[in-house]
Amino acid sequence: MALKFRLRGLAETFIDEITCPCCGKRGTDDTHFTTENTRVTFEGIIVVIQCNSCGEIFVPNTQRLGVIDPGGLKEAVEQDSVDTGDTLFPDYKAVKLHTEKLNLLRKSDLH
Ligand SMILES: [Zn+2]
Repeated sequence: MALKFRLRGLAETFIDEITCPCCGKRGTDDTHFTTENTRVTFEGIIVVIQCNSCGEIFVPNTQRLGVIDPGGLKEAVEQDSVDTGDTLFPDYKAVKLHTEKLNLLRKSDLH
């Protein structure tokens, strides 16, 4: 069973297996991982995983991004940023940077 993330008619992303880079926990579903930090970008849905065991937040490199309607996706991402006031993440790189920042924040909270 693969994890599937879908934005109707715009984009979809699949992940076969997730391995936590921190504690090595493996999983193929959302029992061991949460995905609430997942972002939609111009490049597609970038799934951001948080490990339930150790709390590590990461972007799994096993995900396969598919964009169905690039123009519609771009519009939806821009509109969503306007509606919610949230930062717009244009691509994978931006999401990855943001994820590293989240991890640093999380770790500095612990100490
Ligand atoms: Zn972990």
